Amino acid sequence: MHLSIEPDACVGSGQCALAVPEIFDQDDEDGTVVLLDEQPPQDLHEAVHEAAGLCPVQAILVAAADDTAR
Ligand code: SF4
Repeated sequence: MHLSIEPDACVGSGQCALAVPEIFDQDDEDGTVVLLDEQPPQDLHEAVHEAAGLCPVQAILVAAADDTAR
């Protein structure tokens, strides 16, 4: 799994940070999403998918595999 975010799309609702605080945080100043780990461990994949589904603006992008350079 490879995660990316679109901070410009984020409206700071905080759904992701509430759902998976190990992976998502919010900026202290404007509340936009901060990605803590682009490659979440296996045991968080399901929760990350759920968080992506909760995001009201689809600012969380989940790719099944990381085929970019590490
Ligand atoms: S759920 Fe979406 S809009 Fe809300 S803070 Fe997370 S990325 Fe931003």
